Amino acid sequence: MRQRLVIGVTGGSTNVEGFVRGGINELYFKAVEATGNTPIMLPIIQDANSIAQMVSLCDGLILTGGVDIHPRYYGEEILKECGDFDCFRDTFEWHLLEAVKKQNKPILGICRGIQMLNVFFGGTLYQDLGLNPNFLLMHHQKGSRGYGSHWIDIKEGSFLHAIFGSKAFVNSYHHQAIKEVAPHFKVTAQSRDGVIEGIEHMTLPVWGVQFHPEMMFENDEGCRHLFEHFSIKVKEHATCITTSEEQ
Ligand code: MN
Repeated sequence: MRQRLVIGVTGGSTNVEGFVRGGINELYFKAVEATGNTPIMLPIIQDANSIAQMVSLCDGLILTGGVDIHPRYYGEEILKECGDFDCFRDTFEWHLLEAVKKQNKPILGICRGIQMLNVFFGGTLYQDLGLNPNFLLMHHQKGSRGYGSHWIDIKEGSFLHAIFGSKAFVNSYHHQAIKEVAPHFKVTAQSRDGVIEGIEHMTLPVWGVQFHPEMMFENDEGCRHLFEHFSIKVKEHATCITTSEEQ
């Protein structure tokens, strides 16, 4: 097995004067690099076989933050409250998750990433937090992205509990959130107004967080620990597969 794990980081895109450029916040790469592992960015493409090949090159993956997922993926009409979406990114990530599931690779979803995991596995989203009158906290903080803005309470025995303990003070840059949790997932964290901020699959190596630990990892021990803990899980998984292939 490789000493340094290869962690695939899904890309986003921006349209600059008609030219679409692939890229993603470099803090994702820095956070992976800080764990002693190697990040590679996976660009948005459409060919399912090439996407599956990308996944096969990775020991683990990070599904990154970005624009909204088109609500047709969870069987809803698009409401006026929904934000920007990107059909090419939706298709790319859908093929990517099919490959991740088939190849049983560990994956960490962040922000849009937790939402995509939930939708892919059969859950739904609030198209806007304003659609639930209980959601009163500020989930789209207006400054200091590297610092927390609201508390989350964390379930004992979860992936997140092993990192933060029973609560954490996290940042928040989202206007959507999980509504119905996908089958075979459990909620691992919630904000104090009831927004789902963490999920994990009951049997697969699949975890998600609604906050942005990559923005906080340089000044928050817990968020640094989150990437370390993820890489330990990826390593355990890779070792387990290597061992069973050797037998
Ligand atoms: Mn939040």
